[in-house]
Amino acid sequence: MKVFVTGGAGFIGSQYVRAMLAGEYAGYEDAEVTVFDLLTYAGTTDNLPLGHARLTFVRGDIRDADALAQALPGHDVVVHFAAESHVDRSLVGAAPFVSTNVLGTQLLLDACLRHGVTTVLCVSTDEVYGSIESGAWDEEWPLLPNSPYSASKAGSDLIARACWRTHGLDVRITRCSNNYGPYQNTEKLIPLFITNLLRGRPVPLYGDGRNVREWLHVADHCAALQLVLTDGAPGEIYNIGSGVEVANASIARRLVDLCGADPALIHHVADRKGHDLRYALDFGKITKLGFSPAIEFDQGLESTVRWYREHPERWPDES
Ligand code: NAD
Repeated sequence: MKVFVTGGAGFIGSQYVRAMLAGEYAGYEDAEVTVFDLLTYAGTTDNLPLGHARLTFVRGDIRDADALAQALPGHDVVVHFAAESHVDRSLVGAAPFVSTNVLGTQLLLDACLRHGVTTVLCVSTDEVYGSIESGAWDEEWPLLPNSPYSASKAGSDLIARACWRTHGLDVRITRCSNNYGPYQNTEKLIPLFITNLLRGRPVPLYGDGRNVREWLHVADHCAALQLVLTDGAPGEIYNIGSGVEVANASIARRLVDLCGADPALIHHVADRKGHDLRYALDFGKITKLGFSPAIEFDQGLESTVRWYREHPERWPDES
C-alpha cells in the first residue's frame, strides 16, 4: 500500500503521518508514505520523522500538474490535507486560499484520475456550514460559508464530490470541527495563547469571547480519517466532531490556569470581521462506523500545554 499525503508537513497531516508510520493504523503497518508539501510558512519537515524507512518527502505544489505527474504515479491512496488554513489570513488576502484550496484540489483530482489512484480522502472542515445558533449540522445541511477560507474549502468539497459523481473516482469527504494538540502553528488560537501566556504576554481575545467552537484532539481526528478510509464509502461525506463545545473566553481562562499565568493577560480586542458565533456538528454518521473520541478535552488541553512548555523551539520568535 502506497499512501500519498498532501500537506503532510502541517499540523494535522503530520500527526496522521507520524501515527501511520508508528503502526497505529491496523492494516497499514507496512504502508509506504509519501508526503507532498509545498512547505509554506505553515509546513515544516521538523514535524516529520525524516529518515524513516517508509517515508519519502517531496517538496511540491498541488497546483503544479507536472510535479504531481512525477510524484503521484504508483500510489494507491491520497489523503488530501494541503490547504491555506488560517481564517484571519483569508480576511487579509483571499487569493491564495482560492488558488490552493479550490484550483489545487481540482488539479490533484485530475492527477488522481490520470494516474490510477484508487481512493482519495479530502479533509474538510465544519466551517463550510457557516454558523449555527442552536442544534447541530448533519451532512445534508446546506453549505453557507462566511469567510474566504471556509468558502474556498466549500469549493474544494464540491469539486471533490463532483469528481466522484462525474468520473466515478472513489472520493470521500470529511468535515471536522476545530482541532487542537501538539505541532500546531502558533498563529492559531490555542498555541498562540499558550506561548504568549508562558512568556507572560497578553493574549488577544476577539470581541466578548462568547464564540463557541467544538474541539477535537488532532489524534482523534486522524483516527477518524483512517476509519473513513478503511470503513467509509465512496462519494460519502462524514462529519467528525466531539460534542465538546467551549466558548473562546472559557478556553482563555483554562489556559491561564494551566500556564499559571495572570488572568489580567486576557485582553479583549476588536472582533474578527464576520466572526461565526457557533459551530456544532451532528457526527452520528461516523459514530455508526465505530468512531468515538478517545482523548478527553481537559486532559488533551493539559498535555498540549505541557508539549509547548517542553518545546520552546516551537514558540514564535520574540518580537
Ligand atoms: P496547516 O496550515 O497546519 O498545514 C497545511 C499544510 O499544507 C502545510 O504543511 C503547507 O505547507 C501545505 N500546503 C499549503 N499550500 C500547499 C500547496 N499549494 N501545495 C502543497 N502543500 C501545501 O493546516 P492544518 O491545520 O493541518 O489543516 C489541514 C487540513 O485540515 C486543511 O485542509 C484544513 O482545512 C483542514 N481542517 C483543519 C482544522 C483545524 O482545526 N486545524 C479543522 C478541520 C479541518
